[in-house]
Amino acid sequence: MGRARKETHVYTSGTYSTSFRPSQQSPSARPYCLTNPDGSTDTVAEHYRPKVSYYMREETGNFHYGERHPMKPHRLTLTNHLVLNYGLHNYMDIYAPRRATEDEILAFHSDDYIDFLKRVTPDNVELFQEEFTRFNMGDDCPIFDGMWDFCRLYSGASIEAARKLISGTTDIAVNWTGGLHHAKKFEPSGFCYVNDIVLAILQLLRYYPRVLYVDIDIHHGDGVQEAFYATDRVMTVSFHKYNGDFFPGTGAIDELGRDLGKYYTMNVPLQDGIDDSSYIQLFRNIMTAVMETFRPSAVVLQCGADSLGLDRLGVFNLSIAAHGECVRFMRSFKVPLLVLGGGGYTIRNVARCWTHETGIVCGVKLPDSLPNTVYREFFAPDYKLHPSLTTSKVVNQNSKQYLQAVQYKVLEQLRYLKGAPSVQMQEIPPDIQGILDEETGKLKDEEEDMLQDQQYKRRIAAGGRKQDVCEFFGDDDDQDGEEIDV
Ligand SMILES: [Zn+2]
Repeated sequence: MGRARKETHVYTSGTYSTSFRPSQQSPSARPYCLTNPDGSTDTVAEHYRPKVSYYMREETGNFHYGERHPMKPHRLTLTNHLVLNYGLHNYMDIYAPRRATEDEILAFHSDDYIDFLKRVTPDNVELFQEEFTRFNMGDDCPIFDGMWDFCRLYSGASIEAARKLISGTTDIAVNWTGGLHHAKKFEPSGFCYVNDIVLAILQLLRYYPRVLYVDIDIHHGDGVQEAFYATDRVMTVSFHKYNGDFFPGTGAIDELGRDLGKYYTMNVPLQDGIDDSSYIQLFRNIMTAVMETFRPSAVVLQCGADSLGLDRLGVFNLSIAAHGECVRFMRSFKVPLLVLGGGGYTIRNVARCWTHETGIVCGVKLPDSLPNTVYREFFAPDYKLHPSLTTSKVVNQNSKQYLQAVQYKVLEQLRYLKGAPSVQMQEIPPDIQGILDEETGKLKDEEEDMLQDQQYKRRIAAGGRKQDVCEFFGDDDDQDGEEIDV
């Protein structure tokens, strides 16, 4: 059975203290001991009791990309409310992470790009026209109120989560606010401004010799792939739709990495409408071989939920159970695991999916009937954790032969990797002193965090956040059906 119930405690860093608590918890919503998503028992799940840390700050869900924009941070609020009202705080430690510092973000991004992100606001955009061109700012990455603060919040959570894993005091760290895999060193892309995944992996590399990055968002994890394309210490594996045209246009099966990193980039290109059984089979076969061959010392899993059926921008046909099976499968290897969010644009299903997956990492099977929250109406009419998401409107264009050919080709790639001497690399001495120094540096950052908190409160008080009333409707009619091409 699960761990004994305990009092909710949100650990804070910096000056933030949260009032975020589960509201009325219905007895029927109590989680019970888990096994597998399909209800079968699983000896791994029964005997493996990992320590789970969950990173969230209430205000991260309050930012707004703008009217009609499909990326809605409000999905994070929906997720947190479900997670807490299912009682999952009894099975993990919850942390309110500090914001990333500018120096931490500069570990990957360029000075001039970050300087621009820091200074530009919706009120002064006209002063930055030259930068808009230089940094390739497109319509999908609008300048919105509090943008830089939003970036610092979600990146800080991923960095802290990575450090928690390094410290050995947690086995699985979860940050649904992170996973913004498209951001590049010099430019934003696909709703992503700062690449928190790259920043987290850079932290992990200070201690772990090899880090595996796995991406199940429907879009190619291009920003992470690009950052580690020439190294053999990070292997990236991305499952995504690819036809050369679908955003971001990269992720072909023959993008393999270069120099020392050759064969350490793996791409699994899929077509529209892939279903549960084909996806799970392919995922298990490939990831089993990758884990055996690469033998990572830590795993980062990007759980973009736009690969679910009925996603507003996605074209796959996956159920929440199948998506969650990828999380369960990676958890079963018992390697330190960083679980991140990502895309996901039918927000009621994103919240359901990430709640289900929080249950999986905690080893808890959640009842299908959703607990009461103030956002209950988002989940009408069924109020279930697992609504049917498959649709006959999307035809599965992945033939058996096609999937077999893809699997054969990527597994072939691993044969080259197996023979590579760099796999036999020496253990890198842990850079503990550096991490300790930075922990000390946090104290200095607290002052800046307090300032940001005050500014945030002032913006809210001044009505600065132009809240789109439509975001409080669960269906996607609030977008007027207008599709954005990503
Ligand atoms: Zn995506």
